[in-house]
Order: sequence, then C-alpha cells, then structure tokens
Amino acid sequence: MPVSNSASDPSSAAGHGHWVRVALDVPLPGLFDYRAGGEVRPGQRVIVPFGRRELVGVVVERPSMPAIAEEQVRDVAQVLDDVPPLPEDWLRLAAFAADYYQRPLGEVMLPALPGPLRRPAAYRGKRAGGGPVARLDARAARAAGGKRKGRPGKAGASGDGDVVAGDRAAAGAPGGAAGMTATAGPAVPGDGLVPARPALSAAQQAAVDALAALQGFRPVLLHGVTGSGKTEVYLHAAERVLAAGRQVMLLVPEINLTPQLEGVLRRRLEAVAGVRGVAVLHSGLADGERLEAWLRAVRGEARVLIGTRLALFTPLPELGLIVVDEEHDPSYKQQEGLRYSARDLAIWRARDRGVPVVLGSATPSLESWHHATAGRYLLLSLPERAQAGQLPAIRLLDTRPLRLEQGLAPPLLAAVEARLQRGEQSLIFLNRRGYAPVLHCDACGWVSGCRRCSAYMVLHRAVRPGLAGGPYRHELRCHHCGWQERVPAACPDCGNQDLQPMGRGTQRLEEYLAQRFPQARIARIDADSTRLKGSAQKLFAQVHAGEVDILVGTQMVAKGHDFQNLTFVGVLNADAMLFSHDFRAPERLFAQLMQVAGRAGRSGSASEVFVQTGYPEQPLYQALVRHDYVGFARYALDERAAAGLPPFAYQALLTAEAGELAQALGFLAQAREAAEAWAAAGDAAAVAAQPEAGSTRRAAVAPMVSAGAAQPAIAADMSRITLYDPVPLRVVRVANVERAQLLAESDSRPALQAFLRSWTALLPTLPGASRVRWQLEVDPLEI
Ligand code: ADP
Ligand code: ZN
Ligand code: ZN
Repeated sequence: MPVSNSASDPSSAAGHGHWVRVALDVPLPGLFDYRAGGEVRPGQRVIVPFGRRELVGVVVERPSMPAIAEEQVRDVAQVLDDVPPLPEDWLRLAAFAADYYQRPLGEVMLPALPGPLRRPAAYRGKRAGGGPVARLDARAARAAGGKRKGRPGKAGASGDGDVVAGDRAAAGAPGGAAGMTATAGPAVPGDGLVPARPALSAAQQAAVDALAALQGFRPVLLHGVTGSGKTEVYLHAAERVLAAGRQVMLLVPEINLTPQLEGVLRRRLEAVAGVRGVAVLHSGLADGERLEAWLRAVRGEARVLIGTRLALFTPLPELGLIVVDEEHDPSYKQQEGLRYSARDLAIWRARDRGVPVVLGSATPSLESWHHATAGRYLLLSLPERAQAGQLPAIRLLDTRPLRLEQGLAPPLLAAVEARLQRGEQSLIFLNRRGYAPVLHCDACGWVSGCRRCSAYMVLHRAVRPGLAGGPYRHELRCHHCGWQERVPAACPDCGNQDLQPMGRGTQRLEEYLAQRFPQARIARIDADSTRLKGSAQKLFAQVHAGEVDILVGTQMVAKGHDFQNLTFVGVLNADAMLFSHDFRAPERLFAQLMQVAGRAGRSGSASEVFVQTGYPEQPLYQALVRHDYVGFARYALDERAAAGLPPFAYQALLTAEAGELAQALGFLAQAREAAEAWAAAGDAAAVAAQPEAGSTRRAAVAPMVSAGAAQPAIAADMSRITLYDPVPLRVVRVANVERAQLLAESDSRPALQAFLRSWTALLPTLPGASRVRWQLEVDPLEI
C-alpha cells in the first residue's frame, strides 16, 4: 500500500539532488533509488516502499541522477535518525564483504543490524513511540528514576505522526529491554568475584610486551598450548588499549559453550571499563538485549565488546584492538546467507582501521599458520602451561588386538575406574550423538533410512518415556532433515521383530557407563542434552562444581573449558574422521583431539589421554602423542602444497539444489561450459594477467560484452582458473532436495575474484537456472 508522504516535494528533490541509493535486504542484485524530502546522509537508515511492502534500507550514496526514469522513483517513507548514521568504515566493511563473498550489499548490511532497527513495524503506527531506540532509552530513563531523559527519537522526514502504514509496531518491539539497560546483560555464570591477576610467566610477559609495542595494523598469531594462559595475554593487551581510551573487540567461538570464559573476561574487564563498559553480543540474545548491547558499543559507552561472529559487524567508533580467540574454530564461518568468515573479516577490518588484530589458538588454522611462518603475521608463542602442570601424557590404544567392551578398551575402563577411586574426573569424548547411528535387521539386512534423505535415521532414546511403538522406548531421527518416526515393531521388509542398534552414540555410551560404574555420577553434554536454553551452562557448572565424575560428550566439550579436576580423557571413534573425503578433515581432527586432550590436567595433577585407534602409526596420531602442532602443521602443509590445496590455492564452491539431481548437475555443467567458453575466447584475445601479491583490492575488471559475440567476455585471467567436474554431494538428498556442487579453484585470489564477479552475473541467465536454487561460497570450509 502506498504511504502518504505529503512532507516531501518531488520537484525539490530533483532541484537539490536528494536522490538516495539504498541497500535493501532483498535477493536481487544492485541498489535501489528513492527520492528523499529532507537531508539524508550515507549510512542513514530509511523506510522505503518496495513493491507492496515497506522495508528498512541503508542509504549508500546520493547520486546526482537516479538510475531509472525520474517519474518512476518512489519517495522515502521515513528517514530514521534514532541512531547516528552508520559510520564510513562500517559501510566500507559491508561493501568489501559483499564484493568478496559475491552477495548483494543489502543482504550484508541489513542482517548485520539488530532486528528492531531493520523492521519497519518497529517504527510505524500509533504505538511505535519514536521507534525501538527511543522506547529503550525512555525505559532506561524511567528505570533510572526519571532523572536522565532518554534521547527522543526525532521525527523522520515524513514526520512520525502522519503515517498510516501497517501497524503492529508492538510486535517488533524489544520485549525485556527495560531491565537490560539497568544491568549489563545476562547474568554472569560463576561466583561473581573478580578473578585474581596472576603474575605473568616469562612467555606471557614477552607476548604482552610484543603486543604493547605494536603500532597500527599488524596481524598477530598467538600460538599457545592449551592452558598456556592466552586469556591473560588478551586481557593485558585489552587493558592497555582501554587505558589509551580506545575500544576493544574480543571475538569468541560460541559463547554458550564457554560461559566460564565469558565470565572471566567480563569480570576482569568490568573492573577496568565499568559494568556498562562491557557489552556482550551473540545470537542467543533476545532482540531487545541485542539492541541494547549494540547501542552501547555504537555510542562508545561500551569500551569492550565480547561476542560471537555476528559481533564483528558492530560499529565501534574508537576501535583500538581486535582479538579472535580460538581462531581455528569453524563457528567463525557462517554457513548460511552471507557465508563469511568472521576471522578473515576481522583481519580486513583491522587493516582498514589501522589497528592490531590478535588471533589466538593452540591449534591455529593451517591458513593462519602458513601466514605466520611466512612472516606475514607476527608469531608469538606460549610453549608451556601457565600453571605448574605438565601437558597430559597422550597414549594411543591400538584396538586391533584388544577385546572391546561396548566399544571401550579395557585399559580405558581401568583408567576411569582409577579416577573414580581418587575422586578425580574423567571425560569420554565421542563425536556422535544419539543412541546408535542406525537400526538394523540381522535377518534381511534392512537399515533405517530416512524417507526424505539419502541418509540413515539415527536411533535416539525417546525424551518422553513410554512412547508407544515397539519394543524400544526409542525413536528414529534424521540428523539431516529433522524427520522423526517411531521405531518399527518389526522389520518393514521381513517382519523380524528383533531389530538391533548398530554402533554407538553418546546416549548408549552413557547408558553403558552407568551400568559399568553404578556409583559414578555421569553427565552427558551434546546437542540433545543442551537443547533447552541455559541447560549447557547448567551442565558445565555441575562439572566445574565437582558434581560429575564422568563426563560424556561430543565436540561441545572440547572447546576452551578450564576443568580443574579433570585428569583423564578417553577418545573413541576418532578414526572415523581419519579417512574422510574432505581434505580439511585431518586438520579438524588434529585440532579437536589437541583441544579435547587439553581439557585434562589443567590444575597441575598428572593426567592422561587415551585415544582408541586402529591406525596408531598414522602421522597425525604420532604428532598428537608428542603434542607437536608444529610438526603436524609442517606435514599437513607439505601435503596441501603437493596437492595444490588451500592455503596454496583459493577456492569457491557453487552448489545447486533441485528436485532431481540431474537438474542440479545440468545447471552446474552449463555454468562450467560458460566459463570454458570464456577461457577459449580468452586464449584468442590473450587476456593480460592480473596483478599479483595477495592483494585484496578489488581487481579492476568488469564483465563486458565483446562486440559481435553473443557470449559475454571477461577480463579475468581464465588460464589461472580450474573448474572441477560437477559432483553430487556426499549426502545427495536432504528433505527431498537433491544437491550437487562444482568447485572453482585458482592459485591467485584476485584472478578468482575477477572470475567470480563475472560468473555470478552470468549464472542467473543460464537456461537451467530457473529449475535450481544455487549459491556460491567463497573460501568454503567443507567440500
Ligand atoms: P588457554 O586459553 O591458553 O588454554 P587459559 O587462559 O584458560 O589458557 O589459562 C589456563 C589457566 O591458567 C587458567 O586457570 C588461568 O587462570 C591460569 N593462568 C593463566 N596465566 C597464569 C599465570 N601467569 N600464573 C598462574 N596461572 C595462570
Ligand atoms: Zn528384515
Ligand atoms: Zn532426513
């Protein structure tokens, strides 16, 4: 429905050049032109009509002429000035991300803002009350006893009162925001005491000094073994930057998995910056909480921002330092929408702002390690644990000659037994949730497949006891599409009533351990046991409080926890990742095993890690036993170099989804043929090579149509682009959609970028494009 906009006078817009070019979160390339009645600046948000809807957009530029006929240009419905215009460096960051990851600018900018700031309903209608920011501020002022007046949301260009558009403002209003402004956010787990400041070790001191000496942009890799006290180094660096009057951004992988770390960072930094000086941002926050924390950061009230990958996009006017903790963690990579790497963008942002960026890890990504050893990143090392303790002794249990008890080797069970007797904790790591990966009929070979996916249904212990449907109180669940069904009473193929679980997941392991050690208190931490909000924190708190003897868990338990009384770690089923088709699997396995082993012996008592394997001679395991990340990285990088894989090559993955695999493969084949035609044409035209030197600058090439030819030509150096065969995904069908992928690779990042820019423009025009959904991922983590 059209919005009445009497305030704006179309003729004055043309006269004063008040055209605005706006980024909108719509799946269309390009920007959209509107006419603004009053003064509007780049970085300001506006509400504009789009088709029959209204949308919030971000003004990117003020062109002197609109890109479409003037009479077709519609009016801005409302200019939002409840927050300062998004700063220039934020606009640059978004523009870079959009260009690098090949997405429309609006699909980068809008999702990066707190929800209420991008919903027209939060501003429209009688009850909008000047918008979510004004409401939040008013509530904060009331909570503060009415002394401090909230900033009133100034009326936009069209005025706030004369608006007739879709109401329901209250629906988008931040709910619990009032309480949030008074406190600093969600409660901090732990005892609330400010943790002690230990005297720095020599290695820590050297790292702190090196960081203090940095001027301007410099990427730093802080490689410190597990328990070496990397946190302490971040804190010292942060305190220095705060004392200099600048802001600090501290990125962490998944906050709810490491509430303890959040608590330590927060209490220590609150002691310096004040309670309101520390803001926390992650996806688990309610809209109002996220808006409140974001506002404090943007207004410079928060001096420290701790957050997950989404926090990377927060404007920070006085940014002085970025820290990326556990920089190797895959959760820095967003896997939907804009598939960005927050770690990589953090480095870009630090460069753009001219500030240092510290990447910390015990097991750096091979990309970062490669940069560090090549001298592009400053390498700082913490080779020893901070507290008295040694690193745990790691032993490989060769399972081939052993008789396993429910998958567990006798020495491993004996080690758990010994811990129980000494009152120490054990951790059994099994990266497979559920009861058993598949249900099976011995009589005819039937297995529990998902009817919607090319994958097995996983047997789970039912949540609700007494679930009818068979001899087991279990159910089948598909981990790919979420489909659930009852366990059949008998084999659907042959009628055999004795269906058997095959293999084991964490539930079955927990069940067995409870049987085997009836006196032990056992806790299981995986995605199933932590589904409810706050339950992960609760379980971890129990472990820290010593209320758990044996902890069973998936990769969720491998993250940075500082378990003080844990002296034994047993690792099951690691071999499953050893021979994966994914070239990154060994890197991920090694990191995971080093990290999980690193949970043991952190208080100084002697500790052990047993890894069950059928392949103890594998170089990966041999390096693990020596705690030899450097040796592993050398070996793995040699392999990557020999195979021409990242970080020695740059990749992009085009994925297509369709009702039938043939359609997906057909589209990808067309995409490849089009690129090959470019390559052939390029051979003839002898296209000049692209500038080199790892530059992330936008290569100065644009698609163009060569005269007389129907096929568009590109200026990218196609001789440096390799396109692989389109192939089905390993799990080809998920929820009745079939998927295939095509890998593009180059030894030059600019060449790949130039190619992708032309390619993504071409893809929608391919004949097969209407029958598939496609997406492009730059620097994919999983192939
Ligand atoms: P990392 O992140 O490197 O694995 P942490 O930062 O979690 O290690 O530190 C491990 C433990 O060592 C923590 O309990 C921390 O309080 C402690 N610690 C850190 N630095 C020192 C130090 N200089 N002296 C004594 N203990 C320290
Ligand atoms: Zn059967
Ligand atoms: Zn399924």
